[in-house]
Amino acid sequence: MSQLENNEVLLDVKGLKKYFDIRKGFFRKVVGYVKAVDGVDLFVRHGETLGLVGESGCGKTTTGRAILRLIQPTDGEIRFQSDFAGEVDVRSLDKEGLNNLRKEVQIIFQDPFSSLNPRLSVERIISEPLVIHGIGNRRSRESRVKDLLEIVGLTGEVADRYPHEFSGGQRQRIGIARALALEPKFIVCDEPVSALDVSVQAQVINLMQDLQQEMGLTYLFIAHDLSVVEHISQRIGVMYLGRMIELTSSEQLYENPKHPYTEALLSAIPYADPDMEHEEILLEGNVPDPAHAPPGCHFHPRCRYAKEICTQELPLLEEVEGDTGHYVACHRHRELDLTPVKPSDTLLKRAAAED
Ligand code: SF4
Repeated sequence: MSQLENNEVLLDVKGLKKYFDIRKGFFRKVVGYVKAVDGVDLFVRHGETLGLVGESGCGKTTTGRAILRLIQPTDGEIRFQSDFAGEVDVRSLDKEGLNNLRKEVQIIFQDPFSSLNPRLSVERIISEPLVIHGIGNRRSRESRVKDLLEIVGLTGEVADRYPHEFSGGQRQRIGIARALALEPKFIVCDEPVSALDVSVQAQVINLMQDLQQEMGLTYLFIAHDLSVVEHISQRIGVMYLGRMIELTSSEQLYENPKHPYTEALLSAIPYADPDMEHEEILLEGNVPDPAHAPPGCHFHPRCRYAKEICTQELPLLEEVEGDTGHYVACHRHRELDLTPVKPSDTLLKRAAAED
């Protein structure tokens, strides 16, 4: 049954896969696959933020782009509750259907330095989606751009300027204004603050939270560390090597983590008080090459709790003790007593409060 039959749910993704071919030789024969996303299930409720977290190479960005069909998924279901067309199967949309979908779903990119065309004025950057979709005339678009600039905390006077004249935080505000131009209801935020300083991160996240409340937006918020998503997400999914390994409410994830990888990510959250005692769990090595995933639990070569079964059988995502909405993929989740955190005084939280 699609989660969309539950009226609260805006986006329902099941079994999402994105494999990239590995080709070799003169005839570029396919000799294998990079399983960038390998069977991800998730849903997002109307008006909520689902955080998606993991190290570089875990598949979170590919997941976000495949959901929007910016890249073509290999397999899986993506169902979206459209205002115009009812429940749509995003994977089967034709060009016109995708074009219509773009009015309701948008993306904010990670790098505000490279995602804005340096040769276009702010006016042209923000009005581009309106031009593409044939919305309004020149005068009404100019007025809309000025409104959007004010909504994101800039002034209409900057419309004639160019991206290089702005700071990183200001550029990301311009990126947000562009994403809002078509009045979308769902936005994939692809590491929108990763390239910014902590104090600027806090300002941009506060802005995004205000916009969410005022406009009823729904976010899939992708980040590589848990300090960023804690501040904005109601639920959080943790990914590792193309798979979801833990998914639960924000509170549960921080106070009752069930996966050793989540525990390690939590231990790395930077605190505002450098004297605050906490043990950082140092993960050895990087995320393995998804073309050569370790057998069994993909995390086992880096897991300090690994046992023999972990090297042989892939743990599936299962609900922790009945109907809790807390899902984990770990053979040992029932017996492990992992270290929680209460990130009440993280650097980011303090900066957000001071903003
Ligand atoms: Fe660690 Fe085993 Fe759990 Fe994987 S299944 S996270 S290796 S304890």
